[in-house]
Amino acid sequence: MFAEVILAKVTPGLDKIYHYSIPKELEGKAQVGSQVIVPFGNAKRVGYIVGFVETSDVKGIKDIGEVLSPYPLFTRRSVELARWMAEHYYSFFMTALRVIMPPGTAHIEKRALKTKLRKPLYKELPTSNLKLQNKSPSYVLRTSEGKQIINYKKFELTKEQDKALASIKSDLDSGKFSVSLLYGITASGKTEVYLRAADLVVISGGSAIILVPEVGLTPQMIERFREHFGDILAVYHSERTMKERQSEWEAVALSESSVVLGTRSALFMPMKNLKLIVIDEEYENTYKSDQSPRYQTRDVAFHIAKSVNAAVVLGSGTPSVETYYNAESGNYRLLTLPKRIDDRALPPVKVVDMRDEMKARNYNVLSRGMREEIKSAIQKKEQVILFINRRGYFTFVMCRTCGYTIQCPKCSASLIYYMNDRKLRCNHCNFESPAPVVCPKCQSTSIKFFGGGTQRIEQEVAQIVPKARILRLDRDTVKKKGMYENIIRSFISGSADVLIGTQMVTKGLDIGSVTLVGVVAADIGLNLPDFRAAEHTFQLITQVAGRTGRHELPGKVIVQTYNPDHYAIKYSSSHDYLGFYKEEIQSRRQLGYPPFSSLINIIIHGENEKNVEQVSKELVKFIKKRLRAGDEAFGPAKAPINKLKGNFRYQIIVKGKDPENIRKAVVSGLGPIVKLGRVRISVDIDPYNML
Ligand SMILES: [Zn+2]
Ligand SMILES: [Zn+2]
Repeated sequence: MFAEVILAKVTPGLDKIYHYSIPKELEGKAQVGSQVIVPFGNAKRVGYIVGFVETSDVKGIKDIGEVLSPYPLFTRRSVELARWMAEHYYSFFMTALRVIMPPGTAHIEKRALKTKLRKPLYKELPTSNLKLQNKSPSYVLRTSEGKQIINYKKFELTKEQDKALASIKSDLDSGKFSVSLLYGITASGKTEVYLRAADLVVISGGSAIILVPEVGLTPQMIERFREHFGDILAVYHSERTMKERQSEWEAVALSESSVVLGTRSALFMPMKNLKLIVIDEEYENTYKSDQSPRYQTRDVAFHIAKSVNAAVVLGSGTPSVETYYNAESGNYRLLTLPKRIDDRALPPVKVVDMRDEMKARNYNVLSRGMREEIKSAIQKKEQVILFINRRGYFTFVMCRTCGYTIQCPKCSASLIYYMNDRKLRCNHCNFESPAPVVCPKCQSTSIKFFGGGTQRIEQEVAQIVPKARILRLDRDTVKKKGMYENIIRSFISGSADVLIGTQMVTKGLDIGSVTLVGVVAADIGLNLPDFRAAEHTFQLITQVAGRTGRHELPGKVIVQTYNPDHYAIKYSSSHDYLGFYKEEIQSRRQLGYPPFSSLINIIIHGENEKNVEQVSKELVKFIKKRLRAGDEAFGPAKAPINKLKGNFRYQIIVKGKDPENIRKAVVSGLGPIVKLGRVRISVDIDPYNML
């Protein structure tokens, strides 16, 4: 018998399976999932065993040198999953496998080959704490005869919640793969349904994964689950330290934890007897991996759930157009929560046309109405959330004489003015330069700063209400670990009156004293060259509007826009998802966009623009030759962000009815091009970001 080994370090030529024989002393130790040291050429390499074969045609097979891991790091099923992901998302097999392996494994690889006298790489996996294993949530009591009694002191479910839960229960009982869409407006009680569904699973001895988008994983959400599930809950996300993640991973591997709450990487936790995967706000772009393998969490969840006959629940108040279409066409079961808990009203939304403000000579970023409402809320000791999807102070700098705008020299993007250090900075690559006094092009002094980001809103609010305690939540204020949680916690505890932030403030917060939500610039994303621009705008406004009026105090929303007639603005201001959906799906059908087609976005990038352009042209020719009739390849064209971190970027978009057909055409077209290696190519299947 021979072991199939994949090398840890990948390059295009080496991403394949190598055969090694197993010396007597390693028999039994070498398993699928073992991290090993193997001889390779004249050197030693770290690799992983991904399978075994009875016979091999390879001549001169060598022995495995050493088995490093005391226990398997992944299962046969994980190997299959990684294979599927590598093929489907066009990544290296090893890169896909890495997504599934326990945290910290890559770190060990680096140490493994270094010294002779090395510290132990692994501590033995502690044997399970039997007390914790298969422990039930704290409210499950057992009688002396061993019967389970559920001591559930929580509130009653609404009729709709009850119905949704019953439907999920029947799916769980069937023991078959199923998908439901739980479409419930903000504050309609979706989380309670997730909790109860996970309960059903745990009580029957299974395990559940609850995924939330990064911005939705607030301390409030975690506390709610912690309170409910106690010790059997594992919390897994990138904000946690490596040590914490490792310990959560072990708890799951030892079956001490049977419910996992986390962001997309939590999908790959080593669950035993997985019965349920919940994806909250499945439309969120953080569910789409932005590095290879560029997987879509929802589709990987389907793949996993199919292989173990689990139920998937997608939940959202603003489902992606594709998902709602699938529910409408009967591919997913549609469950609806149409009302807020206790029949609370959705907050009224006032749309302010910023052109009218200009006419009235108000050149501030905040309209007169918004300023008044902020003042009044703070006077009443209530809280305010202001949302603007842009960081910094001024968002572009332009010369009034010649029209020149100051761009990043390495990216095709405007430089942003930051007030704290009075510098211009690129939000893509962090390039910095002092703010100019004269135009770099024509030397005119009429240089002007425009646009408003979070910093500017912060300053304006401080001017309107000098005594207001203000918190700002954006990528600049959460650079240090733990800051995100700190800011959210202090706002929840009431030690600030106003929370100003980017999309980090749009989800997950459930605070009774928030009575005003202001959308400062609703149009920011509306004009992006992306067919999902309207959908994203609708979702952001609806979600942030849903942060108010959730408890006793009624809420109010103000949306500032230059496009008050745009359908995304109109429908979001009347909380009308179905209205938006109907209009959007019609336009998708007319233009042949998803769900009526599949897309692949190919970005060709490199430092030499000529090379990039030439390779792009060759590539599109190769692909076109392989496409079926009716499928199309557009480009090459300069990508919307044409230059990024010093790299020129060209784009090819492939569109077709059958996702498998276009994927094959692209992959086989890439073959001859990739070998040339002159530029880098990234392939994004079902892209979420078209820039
Ligand atoms: Zn100028
Ligand atoms: Zn830049």
